[in-house]
Amino acid sequence: MKIALLSDIHSNLEAFHAVKNSIGTHGADKIIFIGDVVGYGANPNECIELLRGMTDIMVAGNHDFAAVGKTDISYFNPNARDALLWTTHELTRENTLFLSSLPLHGVMDDIFFVHSTPYHPELWDYVLSMAAAVRSFADCPTPLCFIGHSHSPVIFVKDRANKISAEMTSTIPVKKDVRYIINIGSVGQPRDGNPLSSYGLYDTETRKYTLIRVPYDMQTAQQKILAAGLPRFLAERLSLGH
Ligand code: ZN
Repeated sequence: MKIALLSDIHSNLEAFHAVKNSIGTHGADKIIFIGDVVGYGANPNECIELLRGMTDIMVAGNHDFAAVGKTDISYFNPNARDALLWTTHELTRENTLFLSSLPLHGVMDDIFFVHSTPYHPELWDYVLSMAAAVRSFADCPTPLCFIGHSHSPVIFVKDRANKISAEMTSTIPVKKDVRYIINIGSVGQPRDGNPLSSYGLYDTETRKYTLIRVPYDMQTAQQKILAAGLPRFLAERLSLGH
């Protein structure tokens, strides 16, 4: 079975369409969404509606819950907060209820999905340090876990000797008796210095994971952000990829 994994769409409909087309080209039996469909970009309702029609499992991100009052927005930076207030106002009643209903994590067979960390996902911590990786491996109920949230792809590996390493590779064989926490990057606002959209593909038969990067109509996404009156920085950062 082929699984496509996407995260951090952030209301970027142009990036989402490009990723959807790419998934269609590669072929996927299941599509999993790992949080943050809204926030930052100009098409929250359109992205939610497209996602709902194509996804098998969906979990909540911090922006999804903040947009519907389920997470405090005071800890967000001013640009993120402005975009969240705008998003809250834009969301249809149905989409507000839908975001409110999302779970914090999902499981399929022996694969775990969570936006932030396997431990206390509602704290919205980031797996950016070895300390966070150690804690995340300890609390992950399955050998393989997919996450988002930082918008930077990385693969944490815990080997048979319990040694943890961070790999920046875009493809990896998923070995038995080895544990993995894989950040799949962001569809709508990559921050690893590469502005191309990012998503993951995992084949449960060949046990191969691959990170895919996809170009999209960035100019249109940027123009929509400016036309909506959202912070200019949110348009500019798309070109920078951080
Ligand atoms: Zn995000």
